[in-house]
Amino acid sequence: MNYSVAIPSDIHKQALEHLLRKDGQENLCFAIWYPSIGRNRETALIRELILPEKGEHVLHKNAGFLPGYFERALSIASSKNACLAFMHSHTSPGWQDMSRDDFFAELNHAAPTRGATRFPLVGLTLGTDGAWSARFWEKIKPRTYERFWCKTVRIIGDALNITFNEQLLPKPEFRRELERTISAWGENKQADLARIQVGIIGVGSVGSMVAESIARMGIANIKLIDFDSVELVNLDRLLHATREDVGKSKVNVVARAIRKNATSTDFTAESLEYSVVEEDGFREALDCDVIFSCVDRPWARSVLNFIAYAHLIPIIDGGITVSVSPKGILKGADWKAHIVGPTRKCLECLKQYDPGLVSVEREGYLDDPTYISSLPDEHPIKRNENVFAFSLSTASMQILQFLSMVIAPQDISNIGEQNYHFVTGCMDVKESEGCNEDCPYPSLVSQGDRTAFTVTGRHIKAEEARKVRLNASILKKLIFKISNIFP
Ligand SMILES: [Zn+2]
Ligand SMILES: [Zn+2]
Repeated sequence: MNYSVAIPSDIHKQALEHLLRKDGQENLCFAIWYPSIGRNRETALIRELILPEKGEHVLHKNAGFLPGYFERALSIASSKNACLAFMHSHTSPGWQDMSRDDFFAELNHAAPTRGATRFPLVGLTLGTDGAWSARFWEKIKPRTYERFWCKTVRIIGDALNITFNEQLLPKPEFRRELERTISAWGENKQADLARIQVGIIGVGSVGSMVAESIARMGIANIKLIDFDSVELVNLDRLLHATREDVGKSKVNVVARAIRKNATSTDFTAESLEYSVVEEDGFREALDCDVIFSCVDRPWARSVLNFIAYAHLIPIIDGGITVSVSPKGILKGADWKAHIVGPTRKCLECLKQYDPGLVSVEREGYLDDPTYISSLPDEHPIKRNENVFAFSLSTASMQILQFLSMVIAPQDISNIGEQNYHFVTGCMDVKESEGCNEDCPYPSLVSQGDRTAFTVTGRHIKAEEARKVRLNASILKKLIFKISNIFP
């Protein structure tokens, strides 16, 4: 299991104000967090700080706290069905190690924390430059606790700021192929980019182009999540797919190609034949630092929207709408790109999916030909016009959104909601500034696996797609065997 901590930018800011004192004195506080359990990663999602009250802590050379403060923090955590974190500051920059005092202070509170919350104590240290380091205190056997360092601490806001544990996730060596890319923004930014775990949900036309670009830019770890098979009608848009690939899984076809094209020294592309609405696909997504949403169905979009807030993983979404007159004449084609997360508007408020259709899809109606044929021709579910160039432009806009968020050139990390109109060649840009007042998503921030919602479920179409491929591969092997016996 890998460990990580994610902090919304407003909580991070509040922690900086409290912990980094003007007099240079170290300071401390408690916080509550909720778990986000991915396939290979457990993340502590910081929800709120519990600042010390008068007389609860002492500030001398090393800050310390009184037992009453710990007890109060623990009872707040228990009352909110939350877990407990302890934060303190140091007087130097970067990822911080622990002093002997730090080590025993945390170790000694690991058992009572686990006893009250059933989850490990998480310790965090803040450097003077705003970089966090963090560890989980896991119970490994009765009365024995061990420290497990996090690989990353992620601040999620307009920008995505990650502090990497250089021991567990060192700066990569760059190959000569990346020379021109690195010369655009420097080695430090490239080292951040390269170590980001990227997820691409939906590996159709847009997703395959995003995957190619990300692999070429030197990102080392990509998860491709899609259950679908390549069809003949995809070949005008699906990058890397050929006639021979019809019937194969899209993720395998794209993973095979980008493994060849990647520029990272140590590249992995995982091909995961799931829908993100299935529990297995959902848990894979929770391992990611950033997710590209290249899906077109409402259920998957609603799940990704949920992940952006409840699990603090920025979702870079895009979508294409084409309208054609009944005579088959192009009236309009528009595509959008935007990022959703705590400081920005969610996909529901952006009207990127219809919440009413999510339950219709969960009940299986969107794959029911009778239901589909009963819909009017202009219904978004029925529309499937698309062109390689439209997908290419959408993919490009999504990647640029991603780069702005990570690289933040001239300190600009939120470039707003972009909407490009093919007919006029104009792009509208709207400042992205949070959800509508009655939107439920902002209240889910950092709640991870402790929300009251189950967003995943069985996805019959995904199960069928996997079964068809499995049967085809069994048949192929059988034919191969027979042709060996009777040549
Ligand atoms: Zn310390
Ligand atoms: Zn919203």
